[in-house]
Amino acid sequence: MIIKPRTRGFICTTTHPVGCAAQVQKQIEYVQAKPAIHGPRNVLVIGASTGYGLSARIAAAFGAHANTVGVYRPSAGSEKRTASAGWYNSAAFEKAAEAAGLKSFSVTGDAFSTETKTKTIELIRKELGKVDLVIYSVASARRTNPVTGEFSNSVLKPIGHSYTNKTVNFHTGEVSEVTLEPATQQEISDTVTVMGGDDWQQWMNALSEGEVLTNDVTTIAYSYIGSEITQAIYREGSIGQAKDHLESTALQMNEKLAAHGGRAYVCVSKGLVTQSSSAIPVVPLYMSALYKVMKEKGLHEGTIEQTYRLFSERLYPASGVTPLDDQGRIRIDDWELREDVQAEVQEIWNQITTENIYELTDLVSFRKEFFQLFGFETEGVDYDADVNPDVAVPHSI
Ligand code: NAD
Repeated sequence: MIIKPRTRGFICTTTHPVGCAAQVQKQIEYVQAKPAIHGPRNVLVIGASTGYGLSARIAAAFGAHANTVGVYRPSAGSEKRTASAGWYNSAAFEKAAEAAGLKSFSVTGDAFSTETKTKTIELIRKELGKVDLVIYSVASARRTNPVTGEFSNSVLKPIGHSYTNKTVNFHTGEVSEVTLEPATQQEISDTVTVMGGDDWQQWMNALSEGEVLTNDVTTIAYSYIGSEITQAIYREGSIGQAKDHLESTALQMNEKLAAHGGRAYVCVSKGLVTQSSSAIPVVPLYMSALYKVMKEKGLHEGTIEQTYRLFSERLYPASGVTPLDDQGRIRIDDWELREDVQAEVQEIWNQITTENIYELTDLVSFRKEFFQLFGFETEGVDYDADVNPDVAVPHSI
């Protein structure tokens, strides 16, 4: 099959196995070229197939020589249909891990379900004994309650008032104004149910009861704060309420784990192009301006650069001390939020129009990175070649 990108709104409905494998290889090589991390031995990554979770799995395996278990949604391909990018990424990761003599396993299923948690615990017990690092990196629009079977949907809306700002159609470069109506109380509470700390806590409780955590286990989940420009839609919006919940969950969890040498943190990361962030209104335009400024200042990072810095300078630094902010959070968004960076982004923001967008922002890179998430626009890949979309993940249950 010859696979070309096909888009619907902010998603790409086709994916390229060779391109995804090349993207994974690029991340592996980045980590391998850096000094080794004296970090975890056995790692569980929940939400491991794309974005921050995939990079965490790569940094743990190829930076710290750790064995890994990755949990993600199943989406295999067939002879006629492409798999998800996450599926191809995981297949490439597992092949490379095996070649490097590392153990790696995939549990494919709904991370929110009891069944997936049970399967994961049994696998850890059988193959690794215990894990000393748990990364929670699930980003989802929907959660099914494992007990009642009811759905909750997360929304990206402001709270209390409608909000108008610039946004971009990143395929065409057309800048327009978007008005978003405020979330209802039910929508806010559903967003907290999906993206807050509840499922992370349930995972940690189940792993602890299953006796598959080391006493000194570390666990992290990801948060975002971001710029003044995106406050109303992100941190002060419905998703921000979920992040507040996630952050207070981390503090409570940390208190409990600290009793026997463990720790739990939220890591506040940088805004980056991932399948989840591309879907947020206003954010892609902000990121295009941010990319431009951070690249000019030599501060630009992707998920793998952020993750290597997280592991080597925050979670496992030579000093043995994890630096935290005054709210107990790990900050790896320090360069994004630097005053000079934000001042320049704001200046650009005030001027952006359809006519000057390519000159003032790095929309070209945003768009390219978006397609790279699905395995397209990747150097060295022959997109006219016939490829088999049916790729197996070697150690998947
Ligand atoms: P992503 O979409 O790239 O990754 C999400 C992962 O979750 C994937 O591996 C996917 O398979 C998995 N997943 C989703 N629903 C699942 C389910 N029901 N069962 C099993 N797996 C499921 O997203 P990302 O941007 O890497 O986000 C990860 C975390 O990082 C989120 O908490 C997000 O808020 C946070 N974060 C993202 C950014 C950003 O700009 N991208 C910035 C700061 C923080």
